[in-house]
Amino acid sequence: MRLVLLGPPGAGKGTQSARLVEKLGIPQLSTGDMLRAAVAAGSPIGLRAKALMDAGQLVPDEIVIGIIEQRIDEPDCANGFILDGFPRTVAQAEALGELLARKGMNLDAVVELVVDETALVDRMRKRVAETLAAGKPVRADDNPESFKTRLDAYRAQTAPVSRHYAQRGELKQVDGMMAIDEVTTAINESIGQ
Ligand code: ADP
Repeated sequence: MRLVLLGPPGAGKGTQSARLVEKLGIPQLSTGDMLRAAVAAGSPIGLRAKALMDAGQLVPDEIVIGIIEQRIDEPDCANGFILDGFPRTVAQAEALGELLARKGMNLDAVVELVVDETALVDRMRKRVAETLAAGKPVRADDNPESFKTRLDAYRAQTAPVSRHYAQRGELKQVDGMMAIDEVTTAINESIGQ
């Protein structure tokens, strides 16, 4: 199954992706995780991406499209994958459609986690507190200023991606404000699992 999970930062995409990985036995492809790995490794892509990511801005489309194009050719993606954090612009959604079409593939579902924006800043603060309590490093973009920029980027660049899939009749919306297990159940139902 080839799935896209959409939703603003803090919507719960990472949590729900991890559950889908368990249930479906397909990998989660998080462009955020892949870019953070590139930054940590100091690769050329990481060097280009770091300042933009820290500020909460999107990295250029061609970088993430290139990363995803290579990643979905890996053998563990043969039975499908869960895209988390990609596509994040309409240009990325179009590029994804084209590259899947070239491989004779299509998406099985696009699921959007719909959340009340006022809850997102609180979720980010909670995540920071939990990360610190666990003695782990906090993401450089998990601070109020960058988080605001991430929400702005979401509204301006990623909300149109939902409309792109809605216009094609491919979008399924799930209430992301429910308890975690209830969101999981709703996602599973929406994808017929
Ligand atoms: P979140 O969804 O919580 O904001 P992610 O881990 O998905 O976090 O992304 C972190 C950052 O990585 C983004 O703010 C952006 O700078 C970059 N990024 C991730 N995915 C993409 C993408 N598809 N296009 C452009 N930039 C991206």
